[in-house]
Amino acid sequence: MLDPNLIVYLDGEYLPLGEAKVPLNDHGLLYGDGVFEGIRAYNGRIFKLDEHIRRFQDCARALMIELPLTAAELCKIVRECCAKNDLNDGYIRLVATRGSGDLGLSPTKCPEPRVFCIAATISLYPPEMYETGIPVITAQTRRNNATIVDPQIKSLNYLNNILAKIEANFAGAQEAIMLAQNGVVAECTADNIFIVRDGIIYTPPIYIGALDGITRQTVIQLARTEGYELHEKEFTLFNVYNADECFITGTGAECIAVTKADNRTIGNGTAGTITKKILALYQKHVRENGTNIRD
Ligand code: PMP
Repeated sequence: MLDPNLIVYLDGEYLPLGEAKVPLNDHGLLYGDGVFEGIRAYNGRIFKLDEHIRRFQDCARALMIELPLTAAELCKIVRECCAKNDLNDGYIRLVATRGSGDLGLSPTKCPEPRVFCIAATISLYPPEMYETGIPVITAQTRRNNATIVDPQIKSLNYLNNILAKIEANFAGAQEAIMLAQNGVVAECTADNIFIVRDGIIYTPPIYIGALDGITRQTVIQLARTEGYELHEKEFTLFNVYNADECFITGTGAECIAVTKADNRTIGNGTAGTITKKILALYQKHVRENGTNIRD
């Protein structure tokens, strides 16, 4: 549970979490009508803050939510939420909802979008799991496709992913592979996915139906700079089962090995050499880059 004394931002004010109230007729709550970002701070800096704010704005635009704040104002709020809670390392949740309205669906009845931001600490996968890797299953629940709700929209409606996460949890796994409607691998419930075969790295293209993860973008860039061949290319579970290595990426997970998929051992059953190299590059990069929390 979050500390109720944590200072949060809500609609122009900084106040303790325990006093921050969102009305019951907020359409983010009633209909999942809103967007969010999950952002990390490392070492007194916010990693890829501009990229997160840009994705936040893009997602809001896709839903025709007119954010009442500029990119610069949003950046300032994220930084201040960290500073006011003396955070150097942490996890930040920035949210915009359609705002308060009536009980009907209509977004036109919600005159003012609501924005809030919470900066807190993060609970991570235990360090040994980055060595042993994690098991995943494939969810029966398919990833939304872009004709339903585009998975590129990081919206408050995460039920598609939550249904898959429930399947993972019942199977004793923390993550699930989600397939696109045509059966190719799309992503996981809260992470993007990569496989390695014969030294070449593959990740599904975003148009398959996946969030354009900022960790994914960073890993692609770091891997290519390091000289790895990396392709954004469609693949199926056959390729996952026969991969030498598999790993997933996300702001929370960073870059963690998958060593079992649907009970098949991947590679030699521990984090692979390329996965470990990418994780090391990522962890170095995030600690050295970012927007300063304090001026
Ligand atoms: N896919 C989904 C569905 C996600 O929710 C997330 C974010 N947790 C990711 C991928 C990874 O995105 P990012 O690297 O920007 O955190």
